[in-house]
Amino acid sequence: MQLKFVSSIVLHNYQPKDKYMPKAQFVDFKAVKSAITMEQVLEHYGILDKFKRGTDSFSGPCPIHKGSNPTQFRVSISKNIWNCFSECKHGGNVLDFIARMDDVSIHAAALKAIEWFNLDPEAMSASGDKDEGGETDDKAPAAEAPKPAARKPAIPLAPTAVAEKGAPNAPLKFRLDKLVREHPYLLEQRGLSLETIIDFGLGFCSKGMMADRIAIPIHNVKGEVVAYAGRFPGDPGEDTPKYKLPQGFRKSQELYNIDRAIKEQGPLVIVEGFFDAIKLHQNGWRKVVAIMGSTLSAAQEELIREHTGPASQIIVMLDENEAGQAGREDIASRLSKHCFVRVHTFGKPDMEPEHLTAEELHQILGGGI
Ligand SMILES: [Zn+2]
Repeated sequence: MQLKFVSSIVLHNYQPKDKYMPKAQFVDFKAVKSAITMEQVLEHYGILDKFKRGTDSFSGPCPIHKGSNPTQFRVSISKNIWNCFSECKHGGNVLDFIARMDDVSIHAAALKAIEWFNLDPEAMSASGDKDEGGETDDKAPAAEAPKPAARKPAIPLAPTAVAEKGAPNAPLKFRLDKLVREHPYLLEQRGLSLETIIDFGLGFCSKGMMADRIAIPIHNVKGEVVAYAGRFPGDPGEDTPKYKLPQGFRKSQELYNIDRAIKEQGPLVIVEGFFDAIKLHQNGWRKVVAIMGSTLSAAQEELIREHTGPASQIIVMLDENEAGQAGREDIASRLSKHCFVRVHTFGKPDMEPEHLTAEELHQILGGGI
């Protein structure tokens, strides 16, 4: 199985900040604005359902001046801007909207957005030479846009220790609801039971950034949802990525299913993909984590070390292809410094843990390591 993440939406291969970060940091308003949609922002405020969706618009009562006329406030979806034709007589971009709703500066609005939507602070900060936002291409009231002369630090930099490992992904403050659980992709193509689907919180998402994809909640070790991955239900073709992750989410910081795996006994099985882990769980092996790719990041190694001891057993079971073969050698050599490691190799090319029946799985794992 191949997890192909498109580099433009996923920030992996984290590099220590001090290698290339300039001293003065600014919030790149443009980056923040393009990372979030008005729809997400309305959803964040819990008011999306008050708006009527048109082809390229949402319209409803103005949440800023708290009006009641359902046509006074309008959002252009494609332009990602809003306008109140009534009392406010104003419009603007997503940041202007947050600034008005919360009565804060654009700068503070951008910081809120970074926090609310789990954006990567590093990707959302720009060097002094770059565009600092506040541009008026969409006729936004550039309320407190910083002037090029006002060079003061914007986003506080993470302490060095955190910077080297990469900052943790913040827990999400929203949940994707109204997911369709009984979707043929999950039931038939992936062979999951409804119980498993519900257990893992999977479901087809019809709106928002994961629209038309299967949403897969990713939990941190404490069991908090830190992101939703979106799997295209079927073969997406060449131009569409199979998996989509939220901008700013660092998958290298997480191990899928770690929160539940640490509560189980027996050897820990390491697999590549979400569905490998889910399928193993369904087939009775619950102490399983997925590295969401075929390489183990330093943060993932650290997570495993924190939850294993010298007597612990680990079984590395990656896909039987070139990436999996390369990955498992590296993982085994790194983890064997800390505990007992066994590499499972499949006889057949392109075999994946997901394809194992419960019986085959029992034969492989039944005796432990
Ligand atoms: Zn208004």
